[in-house]
Amino acid sequence: MSAPAVRPAAVEAIPRQRLVDISRELVGLGLNRGTSGNAGVRLGEHFLVTPSGVPAADLTPQDMVLLDFSGVILGPGRPSSECRLHRDVLAARPEIQAVIHTHAPFATSLACLGADLPPFHYMIAVAGGRTIRCAPYALFGTQALSDRALVALEGRKACLLANHGMIALGRDLDEALALSIEVESLCEMYWRASQIGAPVILSDEEMDEVIERFQHYGRRNGEAETQ
Ligand code: 13P
Ligand code: ZN
Repeated sequence: MSAPAVRPAAVEAIPRQRLVDISRELVGLGLNRGTSGNAGVRLGEHFLVTPSGVPAADLTPQDMVLLDFSGVILGPGRPSSECRLHRDVLAARPEIQAVIHTHAPFATSLACLGADLPPFHYMIAVAGGRTIRCAPYALFGTQALSDRALVALEGRKACLLANHGMIALGRDLDEALALSIEVESLCEMYWRASQIGAPVILSDEEMDEVIERFQHYGRRNGEAETQ
């Protein structure tokens, strides 16, 4: 028996609502304000992004903009100015389903220094490596910004954007949100520690141990391990 046909509108309904909820959550958590930041999620051969320049409080599920990977806007409305960034990340990273971009205050303050976030705390490895890189500055909404972000995200799930903000990726929007919160919290801790001294930086070996341990962290008992 063939599966019943699912209307595209029904398939999109949940991610559209989730993007609205996530956008509001980001503002509620203080990670975004006004119209700063945006979010996107993969939808098969397409992706959905938040619209450009709409405050989170005013968003409705119908405002979310559907695009294909060649950049064609299937509508409705005008997609986020960072839709190339969302498209390029989703196209380059098949394991990633969701992208969140914020102007979170601590992450953005550190991004204004244009430096990578060093391993002052073992949780830096939550983004996938020994540092959280900072992509060099480029104008918002440009291909140059997307290209630089993609380099900074190589082997990582988060990066800072110089003089702009940060990006966090996830296998779904919840994971991308959790990582956004974690990165902002790490940036706050680094900022606070730097007020009272020079944070001690973990060695490459210490970070490699953490990265290795994270491969198995949180696995439920009995869940199959591949090696
Ligand atoms: P949009 O409102 O177009 O998504 O722009 C906000 C932003 O953060 C640009 O980098
Ligand atoms: Zn931005």
